[in-house]
Amino acid sequence: MQLLASYLAGSWSNGSGAKVPLVNPTTEEVIAEVANGGHDLAAAFRFAREAGWYELGQMTFAQRGALCGALAKAVSAAREELITLAIANAGNTRSDAKFDIDGAAVTLSHYAELGAKLGDAKLLGDGEPLQVGRTARMGGQHVWTRRHGVAVHINAFNFPAWGLGEKLACALVAGMPVIAKPATATALVAHRLAQLFEPLLPKGVLQVLIGPAGPLLDEVRANDVVAFTGGSATAAMLRSKVSARLNIEADSLNAAVLGPDVELASETGGLFVADVARDITQKTGQKCTAIRRVLVPAGRFDEVCAALKDRIAGIAVGDPSRDDVRMGPLATAQQLADVRAGIARLAAATDSVYGGTGEIAPVGVPAGKGYFVGPVLRSTSDPMGCAELHSHEVFGPVATVAPYEGDAAFAADFVARGEGCLVSSAYSDDRDWVAGFVTSAAPWAGRLYLGSAKMAAQSPGPGTVLPSLVHGGPGRAGGGEELGGERGLRFYMQRCALEGDASVLKSLTQS
Ligand code: NAP
Repeated sequence: MQLLASYLAGSWSNGSGAKVPLVNPTTEEVIAEVANGGHDLAAAFRFAREAGWYELGQMTFAQRGALCGALAKAVSAAREELITLAIANAGNTRSDAKFDIDGAAVTLSHYAELGAKLGDAKLLGDGEPLQVGRTARMGGQHVWTRRHGVAVHINAFNFPAWGLGEKLACALVAGMPVIAKPATATALVAHRLAQLFEPLLPKGVLQVLIGPAGPLLDEVRANDVVAFTGGSATAAMLRSKVSARLNIEADSLNAAVLGPDVELASETGGLFVADVARDITQKTGQKCTAIRRVLVPAGRFDEVCAALKDRIAGIAVGDPSRDDVRMGPLATAQQLADVRAGIARLAAATDSVYGGTGEIAPVGVPAGKGYFVGPVLRSTSDPMGCAELHSHEVFGPVATVAPYEGDAAFAADFVARGEGCLVSSAYSDDRDWVAGFVTSAAPWAGRLYLGSAKMAAQSPGPGTVLPSLVHGGPGRAGGGEELGGERGLRFYMQRCALEGDASVLKSLTQS
């Protein structure tokens, strides 16, 4: 049995104690193990604070960007191997695996380019130079400098490659050494990436703890930062335990709204149906950005339900290594139990449109094996009163459709009922309706995706997180913010106000 080692304090460490199994969610076979603990985490933090901090301090933004570029190439070169691991350990179809792995490579490349653009500087200017004295000789300038600490990255099970890559890219370019802790259940991909990245980075710049966190957070000091992606219960624990700067990406009840002007047969209508159907089934619905709540004009309710039903009924569910299968299992037994419980709660408050409560006979899988649930579409006639719809994220292939009268303010209110989401989408070619929706919905979403005929042909869909746009959301979604190009570096940096000779200040921020 393969025992996955962690890369800590400059060497590979197997840890000690009880072993935690990693399981193939299609067959339920144990495919690898990790130690439950036994790592010297204090030594890892020391190594990051000393070696990692020093090494990154020798480098300019451009040089750190070049490191991201090398990592992106390594991800792309190992693509096929990583896809195989993702199919085995996460139940990903080939297409799901590519979404994660290519997402990591694209994001690292984006930050490679950003580093190159920021050039040979080590400080980033913030705003225009100011005159703070009697004459222009006496100046003021705000600058961003890297934080003097360690960046701890804790990631969710659903994006083992992208999660590792997107957080690492921002911290690296900003100049903070990283200790990453991928989710244990799907750690095979992250472990392989750690092996690939290790020879490409200066010592101490990236350490990877494979397996449970153990006393990881006990080592966090005031100047460190913790970036977390995962469930709200873990997030709540982190909030009470971590006094350092903390970024949280948590649950999200993302909504999709069809505007009253849109015919379903139009380009915009087609985009809406394709996006909703994709989000129900891609990665078996285990996407933090997946659409969970769907609002459609009452006059089109039956037509939309029929169109979505048509799409998802054609999706073959089963062994994700097969070419004819489009949706695999959930990643873990725990996920299956949670999703089944979530569907049962939703089923008590809604009607079935398709898939009942998710019972399915998966293709190519021995009877009774695997963590499978079929795609589920539910409906309610009460978009605002159905509390279950707005209060519980079912992290699986499940969405609920509700009708409305087409009012933009009502649609924004529907988004708001989720109490803060990562992304919500609206599909309309009526600019006035869109303006009304955006103004009222924007405070409730980290990102608003505006589907229309003009952009339909080049749209990646609302579920794709782009490195150039911020990712995160208010309220329930955690209140965090990642990525967004240069904005993504800020979490790892601090502002310092400089005052002095204006020409000296200018030279400090010129690359
Ligand atoms: P989770 O159970 O909260 O786990 C997330 C991470 O936290 C894992 O690495 C986990 O490690 C770690 N963790 C657990 N207890 C810890 C502790 N005491 N100290 C330090 N780390 C600890 O979430 P999940 O089940 O992996 O992910 C599903 C959830 O993530 C969903 O609710 C989804 O909405 C959310 N999500 C959000 C985003 C976003 O960007 N907002 C993206 C993806 C997923 P172990 O694996 O070792 O337990």
